[in-house]
Amino acid sequence: MRGRDMGVQMVGPLIIKFGTDAQKAYWLPRILSCEDIWCQGYSEPGAGSDLANLRTNAVIDGDEFVINGQKIWTTMAHDSTHIFMLVRTDPKAPKKQQGISFILVPMDQPGVEVRTITTLAGETEFCEVFFDDARTPCENLVGELNKGWTMAKSLLSFERVFIGAPSLAQNALGQLETYARGAGRFDDPVFCDRFAEVALDVEDHAALYARFADQLKRGEPLGADVSMLKIWVTETFQKITELMIEVAGPDGGTLGPLQVGNVGVDVLAAFYKARPTTIYGGSNEIQRNILSKAVLGLPG
Ligand SMILES: Cc1cc2nc3c(=O)[nH]c(=O)nc-3n(C[C@H](O)[C@H](O)[C@H](O)COP(=O)(O)OP(=O)(O)OC[C@H]3O[C@@H](n4cnc5c(N)ncnc54)[C@H](O)[C@@H]3O)c2cc1C
Repeated sequence: MRGRDMGVQMVGPLIIKFGTDAQKAYWLPRILSCEDIWCQGYSEPGAGSDLANLRTNAVIDGDEFVINGQKIWTTMAHDSTHIFMLVRTDPKAPKKQQGISFILVPMDQPGVEVRTITTLAGETEFCEVFFDDARTPCENLVGELNKGWTMAKSLLSFERVFIGAPSLAQNALGQLETYARGAGRFDDPVFCDRFAEVALDVEDHAALYARFADQLKRGEPLGADVSMLKIWVTETFQKITELMIEVAGPDGGTLGPLQVGNVGVDVLAAFYKARPTTIYGGSNEIQRNILSKAVLGLPG
């Protein structure tokens, strides 16, 4: 089974699009075999929604980049062998979007320190990553030096398809149905009405997703409207998990699976899992800004 790495969904497509033949020949088979496990080093303290503020820098020393700075919220960094990252390579560039490069960096070296961050749910899912004279060969630069912003934006559209997939909401709907059936809630017409509302949202979203997936299969680039997928699936996911907490009543705050008949449903874990989804991959407020400007043509 494939691990939870960002190789196939994110850095792989980027290497296919912007990498050299040598990079493709080296990295792609290793991504497919899971020999390398990737994490994404974009966000920093002070550079989240406004990503171009990033300050982690890389300086060329002989045939290597020397990297100093800090990344944060790096999902699964503690389980990764490599990090793809945005670094500042020209601090004097006139605009902050210029002078950024995209590099591939091995994690197993003395200059890289990973510290896990524990979430509200008690899980160590993401990390801080510190770079203190960390090194990577110059051949691990993807695309042109100082042109990383173009690639970063391209990668974000792959990410939005990946995180906009229907499975988040579909799985939660399945859990809600199991729990509500076990708790006898389908006898209540008010609950049935609310269940139908979220179930239809899930169906509509899946149909929209299929449209974008077909576009990708035809090799067509995705437009800014792909932001709709992420907004829709994450907000539907949250609505479903909130309804599940309501159905559970006073038990909704209980840690661990709640037993209904012979199945257990972890209502609180699903609720916790849904909370950060509207933040990662570009918060939903930022996705709405993109839609309003690039799709509706409203003033920025
Ligand atoms: C679970 C999780 C996993 C993550 N994994 C990774 C990862 O693997 N790699 C990585 O690089 N990053 C990762 N991130 C970081 C994520 O991309 C950032 O949290 C996100 O981009 C928001 O940045 P920020 O946290 O700095 O919030 P800020 O940018 O400080 O935003 C704070 C609030 O202000 C709002 N806001 C900011 N600017 C505007 C604006 N112009 N208009 C309207 N509202 C605005 C935001 O929507 C948000 O509600 C992860 C985050 C989470 C929660």
